[in-house]
Amino acid sequence: MHLLEKYKQFLPINDNTPIFSLGEGNTPLVKSNNIYKEIGCKELYFKLEGCNPSGSFKDRGMVMAVSKAIEKGSKKIICASTGNTSASAAAFGAYCGLETIVLIPEGKIAIGKLSQAVAYGAKIVSINGNFDQALNLVKEISEQQKDIELVNSINPNRIHGQKTGAFEIVDELGYAPDEVFIPVGNAGNITAYWDGFKIYNDLNTSNLPKMIGFQAKNSAPIVNKKIIENPETVATAIRIGNPASWEFAEKALHESSGKIDAIDDDSIVEGYKIIASMEGIFAEPASCITVAGLYHLKKLGYDFSGKTIVCILTGNGLKDPDFANNYLNFQIHKMNPEFEELKNFLLS
Ligand SMILES: *Cc1c(COP(=O)(O)O)cnc(C)c1O
Repeated sequence: MHLLEKYKQFLPINDNTPIFSLGEGNTPLVKSNNIYKEIGCKELYFKLEGCNPSGSFKDRGMVMAVSKAIEKGSKKIICASTGNTSASAAAFGAYCGLETIVLIPEGKIAIGKLSQAVAYGAKIVSINGNFDQALNLVKEISEQQKDIELVNSINPNRIHGQKTGAFEIVDELGYAPDEVFIPVGNAGNITAYWDGFKIYNDLNTSNLPKMIGFQAKNSAPIVNKKIIENPETVATAIRIGNPASWEFAEKALHESSGKIDAIDDDSIVEGYKIIASMEGIFAEPASCITVAGLYHLKKLGYDFSGKTIVCILTGNGLKDPDFANNYLNFQIHKMNPEFEELKNFLLS
């Protein structure tokens, strides 16, 4: 069943809200086969948001935001993006026949994500500045031009749609995990997941998890309690210095008795390699900060025993081939198409 249909009762849907789908949601919750042993928790799961149609969780929020934009009569959608929001907006824009305009920070967007926006036919503006500056620009233009709908996560419909990730986890496990590990950029997703868990908890169908957020070390405004003017990290999806949903994230952390921590780039790269080589899951760098976070907390002596943990793997590793090229060791044996040569190589 379509995401909007399945969770209709929890979403801002009325008789005039168009219901459609590109196949978003219903993503796999994969049980860890190896990492959980090293971490020492009871159960560890990975929510593979990279399996969404445009390859990231952004599709959950985008389907709702675009649906509401159409209900309102908008013909154009606009967003600032570190990559995945633009890919998602452009996909739904194409499906629904809307013009999509995306503002991206120059040179700081993974080639896979940019390729998607180009292929889906978005109007792409690259600004000589960072994400936070791009967001300020699109906010201003959408406030002035009422026919252009802003589809960044400050649009509450995005958050509504993204709550469905929490619903799916509880629907599948039958309960909420003890802890949810999640990357934090603009902080919309941690806000949405917490909202989702609270809604189910209010219905007595779930307990509440602790929200454990992670920011990249040099892009960690919430951890450091100050705006970062020039955020930097290899995890471009969370290269954000002034999160739009900052207060909501603080609220989620506080209400859930959770915590937020900073992880350095080397550890993110390590997490990226570990999740792929130990679990067969190729996730993008920002997603892998959750895996790095497991090892980081383990090293600090955090008590994982008896806990069930879910890591939200927000985006697909295929989006960023340059990253693979830069950080993986492509050691590949070359040979002639000769049987003896193959045998010698394999058995030597
Ligand atoms: C957008 C994004 C994030 C950050 O999510 P926020 O809601 O901005 O905190 C993390 N990982 C990936 C892959 C993303 O696309």
